[in-house]
Amino acid sequence: MNQKIAQHKHCRSCGKAFVGEGRYCSENCERGSESALKGKKRQLLILYVVSVIILIGALLLSVL
Ligand SMILES: [Zn+2]
Repeated sequence: MNQKIAQHKHCRSCGKAFVGEGRYCSENCERGSESALKGKKRQLLILYVVSVIILIGALLLSVL
């Protein structure tokens, strides 16, 4: 009765329960979430660069 259910984790990508090491249930999920993370990082970088350019433009306009 007191037998524990095998320890399991939930995949960080698809949320499925799985038994084993790591954060993802499969290589596919690992790769998928990695590339999604990279895409997000790139988006943030672009946003940052654009806002810096706008800031510099506004500074130049206020000086002129
Ligand atoms: Zn998964």
